[in-house]
Amino acid sequence: MSVDTPEELEGLQRVGRVVAETIAAVREAAVPGVTTAELDAIAEAVFERHGARSGPILTYDYPGSICLSIDDEIVHGIPGSRVLRAGQLLTIDVAAELDGFHADAATTIAIGEPSPEADRLLAAGRRALAAGIEAARPGATLRDVGAAIEATVEWDGFHVARELTGHGIGRKMHEPPTVFNWPAPFEEASERLTEGLVFTIEPMITAGDPQFAAAADGWTIRSLDGARSTHEEHTVMVRRGGALVLTDSVA
Ligand code: MG
Repeated sequence: MSVDTPEELEGLQRVGRVVAETIAAVREAAVPGVTTAELDAIAEAVFERHGARSGPILTYDYPGSICLSIDDEIVHGIPGSRVLRAGQLLTIDVAAELDGFHADAATTIAIGEPSPEADRLLAAGRRALAAGIEAARPGATLRDVGAAIEATVEWDGFHVARELTGHGIGRKMHEPPTVFNWPAPFEEASERLTEGLVFTIEPMITAGDPQFAAAADGWTIRSLDGARSTHEEHTVMVRRGGALVLTDSVA
C-alpha cells in the first residue's frame, strides 16, 4: 500500500510494533532444548495479547502462527516437535495483522554460540538488509534496492536466492510490487519509489549454491545442496531522508 494519512501510518506502526515484540519474545526463548512448537505458542500469545492475528494463518491457512526455519531451510519452516540444538541457525519470520494493517519481519539467529562461519553468514544477512533499506529512497527504483543488496552479499562471499523476494504489504500480507534482491532486468523492477510506499525488504541468502526446492510438506523451502541460509526482513515505508522501518521497535 501507499500511506496517505497519519491514521494509516499509525495503524502500520502499531502492527509493526507487535511484529517486533513477537520476534524479540521468540528470540529470547530460542535456546537449546526448546521445540519450535513451543516458540510458536509464545508468538501466538503475543498476538493474542494485542488482539493481532497471524498473517500466514489469515492469508494462507498456514499450519503455524509464525515460520521457524532451521539451518538449510531458507523460509516457511513449520513449527512442530523439533528440538533446537546448540549450533543451529534459526530464522524467526513473523507476519501479523492488526485492525486491517499488516507487517512482516524476520531475523536469523544462532542457537547457542555461533561458529565463526555462521557468524559471517548472519552478519552478511544483516548488512544486506541495511544496504537495501539505505537504497530505498524516493526516486530510486526497485532495481536499485536489489542491486545494493546483491552487491553487499557478493562482497561478503555469499549468494542471494534470487527467486525469493520481498513484496508490497499493508492492507494485505502480500501486495505488489515484487521486491527483488538482485538487479532484476524485469520491467516491474523499473518502478520508481514514491513517498509513502510500503514494502518488505528481505534478502534470503545461502552459504552455498543458492538453488532451492520445496520440501514434501508443501511449505518448507530449503537449499538443494544443504548449505545454511539467513533471512533478514523489515517492513519499510519510503520517505525523504531515508526509509522508515516499521518493524524495528517494540510496543
Ligand atoms: Mg515477507
